[in-house]
Amino acid sequence: MDFDFPEELAETRKKIREFGLRELTPELAEKYDREEKYPNEIRKKAFEAGIINYENPWGMLMAIEELCRIDPGLGISATVSLFGEEVIMLFGTEEQKQKYLTRVNSGELIMGLAVTEPGGGSDVAGIKTTATRSGDKFIINGAKMFITNGQIADFIVMLVRTSPPNGKRHHGLSTVIVDTKAKGFTANKLEGKLGVRATNTAELVLNNVEIPVENLVGPEGKGFYHIMTFFNISRVYVAAQGLGIAQGALDRMLQYIKKASALGIAEANSESSQFILAEVAAKVEAARLLTYKAASFLFQFKPDPIITSIAKWHAAEAAVFAAEKAMELTGTTGITSDLERFYRDAKILEIWEGTSEVEKLIIARMLTKEDGTQ
Ligand SMILES: Cc1cc2nc3c(=O)[nH]c(=O)nc-3n(C[C@H](O)[C@H](O)[C@H](O)COP(=O)(O)OP(=O)(O)OC[C@H]3O[C@@H](n4cnc5c(N)ncnc54)[C@H](O)[C@@H]3O)c2cc1C
Repeated sequence: MDFDFPEELAETRKKIREFGLRELTPELAEKYDREEKYPNEIRKKAFEAGIINYENPWGMLMAIEELCRIDPGLGISATVSLFGEEVIMLFGTEEQKQKYLTRVNSGELIMGLAVTEPGGGSDVAGIKTTATRSGDKFIINGAKMFITNGQIADFIVMLVRTSPPNGKRHHGLSTVIVDTKAKGFTANKLEGKLGVRATNTAELVLNNVEIPVENLVGPEGKGFYHIMTFFNISRVYVAAQGLGIAQGALDRMLQYIKKASALGIAEANSESSQFILAEVAAKVEAARLLTYKAASFLFQFKPDPIITSIAKWHAAEAAVFAAEKAMELTGTTGITSDLERFYRDAKILEIWEGTSEVEKLIIARMLTKEDGTQ
């Protein structure tokens, strides 16, 4: 088994890294975080440079990893404008693909995916937003919470209830495309997040929003299945975010040790510092192997939900661990450097697209199911 990437992917990674170091400057990273502003110019440049190219899935994964390694807030913002597109890609009509996906994949449009509501995110089947059929329209009422790109998106793929659960809570849910310019749609930007402040997050309020029935994605009543299928894909990309952040923290630890050693600061190379470094390096490497294994299954069209959830959980944990240990090792230097952002930004990975607890539940349930014991 060969663990090396082929030459053209090594070249892709090099190109992404060069782009990231050129465009995601420390000044811009600090500014967008402080101002809690979405870096649309950087996103556009990433499309122009071919860094975001949905036709090259390994390239997409590397873009997320390498840009998050430089700055998580900018890295995620620049790569998340396609968030949710797999729902349309897998279940949408040819017309929907032409109308929406072509323009999202070229960077012209920004989209989002809305599942979470004010009542919670983990319990997907418990959502309350309704879409009621009226002639050739659906009328949507409800609210969505913490929606990435919520205020800047051109359209949102949304999970809604189209019929009562009838005993099974995950029945009667559907996915629909909502135009953000529709009458009755409001997006309120959420500010003051712990981290990833350059990403746009919003509360969405839907007050009698009308959408044509053609905006239903896939068969009515299959929304829960669409969203679960989507998460089995998107979690691989979250694992790549975690890998990038963990590697970025490790990079900074090494830079610090080098500088401090040159200045004759003995503690930088003490045994306890070496232990911390080794622990972080081991977590990063494990995150890398798991992320690439999950991606390899996914890109061969045979995603493995157990490996995907293990990768997402582990890489998120590696990012949080690495950022914290980097802070410990670098002390006041770290607190006053960009590591401060890594420390704040890492935490979201243990929350979005399935908390670590939810990932553990999936792993355990799938294992016992496969074992035939449930
Ligand atoms: C910055 C940001 C961006 C986001 N972007 C999006 C987006 O684009 N689209 C979207 O739909 N959502 C988005 N979310 C929401 C995110 O997916 C949810 O926060 C997440 O799913 C957890 O839901 P919750 O916060 O409501 O926590 P809850 O579901 O209320 O969970 C609270 C706690 O209980 C635990 N828990 C819940 N259920 C169980 C269980 N059955 N067993 C054991 N423990 C359990 C959880 O692990 C967690 O620790 C975003 C959130 C943030 C912060």
